[in-house]
Amino acid sequence: MNIVPPSFEVLDHLDKLNLAVRIEYCGRICYKSEDQINRDSALPFVVKIAAHGHNSVLEMGVVTLRVSGANADRIAELYATQPRYLYIDRSDENGLLITGSIRAFREMLIFHPDCALVHNLAAFLARRHPYFFSTIIPESGLTPDPAITVAKVELPEVDRFAAPQREKHRFIAVKFIVNRAVTHEIVRHRPCSFLQESQRYCRYADHKFGGEVTFIKPLFFAGDSPEYALWKKAMEDSERLYLQLLATSSPQAARTVLPNSCKTEIIVYANLAEWRHIFNLRTTKAAEPSMREVMIPLQADFRKRFAGIFSA
Ligand SMILES: Cc1cc2nc3c(=O)[nH]c(=O)nc-3n(C[C@H](O)[C@H](O)[C@H](O)COP(=O)(O)OP(=O)(O)OC[C@H]3O[C@@H](n4cnc5c(N)ncnc54)[C@H](O)[C@@H]3O)c2cc1C
Repeated sequence: MNIVPPSFEVLDHLDKLNLAVRIEYCGRICYKSEDQINRDSALPFVVKIAAHGHNSVLEMGVVTLRVSGANADRIAELYATQPRYLYIDRSDENGLLITGSIRAFREMLIFHPDCALVHNLAAFLARRHPYFFSTIIPESGLTPDPAITVAKVELPEVDRFAAPQREKHRFIAVKFIVNRAVTHEIVRHRPCSFLQESQRYCRYADHKFGGEVTFIKPLFFAGDSPEYALWKKAMEDSERLYLQLLATSSPQAARTVLPNSCKTEIIVYANLAEWRHIFNLRTTKAAEPSMREVMIPLQADFRKRFAGIFSA
């Protein structure tokens, strides 16, 4: 049995990687197969993920596009699709700023194949990242409007946007190592994208997990208290039963005896506006103490990192 403190890491290094590489990095947290990442592994991984319909992995890559030359009808046609997972701003009279994940852009094409502007967006992305689109482009091909141009807005430019636009279009991922009660609360924040270590796929008896279950140290009990001794005994018992069940059962069956204190890794990807909403709810005295334990220092980090968006 292993006991670790909770922690978090802002995954800003992912912002410098290409989309397939960052999506693979995030996706492998589910299987804890990060050891299989190598120079050539990203493309086969994301192609397989897209084919298997594990679509939330494709939410881990977000791009901002600048659209120019769309007339009022084209723009109205796009809005009529009610794009729920795209963040759209007018940049000037005929211009739009559109931010969305690879999943969001793919599904715009799948569900709104008659919208010309959607074809422009898909054609632009498919030229740069064919592997995300090759299986969903209609047999008749894409028919983008030649009057419309699409260009990528690089992250440094997004970071120079004025605050109201920046908080909407700037996404950032954070990896938390916390207990399962905390992740159960985090995933209630619907505008975020999430990927979480899976107790269905991870078999903690395996060598790479040290053959043991890892638990998060609860902040509620002092290390030398009788309550802590009781908690530790409960963890030892559940680990023993889990390992015993694994001898004859699958991880998804054995995990039914694992408790809330089980360590889990989760990547949360959201724009700055949603992060602010999360901090507003999850750092106050009403919030769960184990949640505050990670959210208060993360909020302090964001205040330094994104001065002007998160006030002290
Ligand atoms: C102190 C505390 C106690 C809690 N106790 C409980 C509890 O006992 N039981 C329980 O079930 N949950 C509980 N929760 C969870 C809480 O009800 C919310 O589900 C969670 O905090 C997510 O926040 P949210 O709904 O404001 O926004 P998010 O899901 O983070 O969404 C952000 C914003 O998007 C908009 N939005 C997103 N989805 C919709 C939608 N479908 N319709 C309209 N607007 C939408 C809203 O403007 C919302 O503010 C608790 C949360 C806290 C902080």
